[in-house]
Amino acid sequence: MSQTARILDGKATAKAVREDVAARVAALVDKGVRPGLRVVLVGEDPASQVYVRNKDRAATEAGIDVDTVRLPATTSQADLEAVVAGLNADDAVHGILVQLPLPDGLDEQAVVETLDPNKDVDGLHPDNVAALVQGRPGLVPCTPAGCIELLDRDGFDLEGRHVVVVGRSQLVGKPLAQLALARNATVTMCHSRTRDLDAHCGRADVLVAAVGRAKLIQGAWVRPGAVVLDVGINRGEDGKLVGDVDFEGAAQKASAITPVPGGIGPMTIAMLLANTVLAAARQTGLEAALEGVPVTSDAS
Ligand code: NAP
Repeated sequence: MSQTARILDGKATAKAVREDVAARVAALVDKGVRPGLRVVLVGEDPASQVYVRNKDRAATEAGIDVDTVRLPATTSQADLEAVVAGLNADDAVHGILVQLPLPDGLDEQAVVETLDPNKDVDGLHPDNVAALVQGRPGLVPCTPAGCIELLDRDGFDLEGRHVVVVGRSQLVGKPLAQLALARNATVTMCHSRTRDLDAHCGRADVLVAAVGRAKLIQGAWVRPGAVVLDVGINRGEDGKLVGDVDFEGAAQKASAITPVPGGIGPMTIAMLLANTVLAAARQTGLEAALEGVPVTSDAS
């Protein structure tokens, strides 16, 4: 059998989002506010270094004032929290992202809780988690927001669809389930203790894999015509990046599928920029300046 699925091109869609973000930045700059983003990077984790470099470049291109605060792996909890407190108090900074994972010995949750929730562009602060669950305005984690934005811009309506999310992390699986529920989807959450994972996957109109295990989701599990979003980023034996889904197999059954790389990854960065601009507009009372300049996930 040959590939039937259409490729959901996250790279191209992310470019379109970044252009909208740049237009929003220009609208705010016009009113005297340049959105500011600070990324806090502790230690030398090579994957994190790459992510941070990509975020920095994309933010700069969109006109955001971005800088990375680099701290040694030996930084103490108190010193890290003091850095975050300083950024919270800085009016030129509208978005703060603490790059995770932190080196061993640092308490990630405690650091997240020191963030000003209005500047928490990763959407992990308990106030933002509660806002998402309760359907109040807040900041939504970038990866799940990117999944929804990709579907939105593809014209895919989630209402009444069965969304199966494999993975229940705070960063991806759980917020994605909430976003899909808010779009009136019916949601099934799967995880490492789920029985008959293949059967659950086989009932999905939209199948989202956010696990971190290369090719865990087999092509044979995919319902014919389903939309498959592969969030996973794994390093294959040959050193290449692979997703959580067996792409070749799944592409023979799905109607549309995201590639890895070039799918959800670029959307995540684009939504970080969108969140930063939204945070800047809210903090400066300039939300009206963004009207008519799209980036749809604001509604969540
Ligand atoms: P995580 O925190 O490690 O969570 C993984 C989830 O997968 C857990 O809920 C776990 O279940 C579940 N799981 C593990 N083995 C399973 C199995 N055999 N069957 C079913 N479920 C299983 O990971 P994450 O942060 O959500 O990241 C997931 C993947 O997405 C990783 O590859 C990560 O690199 C990637 N990612 C990509 C982006 C992007 O921008 N594209 C952003 C973030 C993450 P339990 O809860 O039961 O342990």
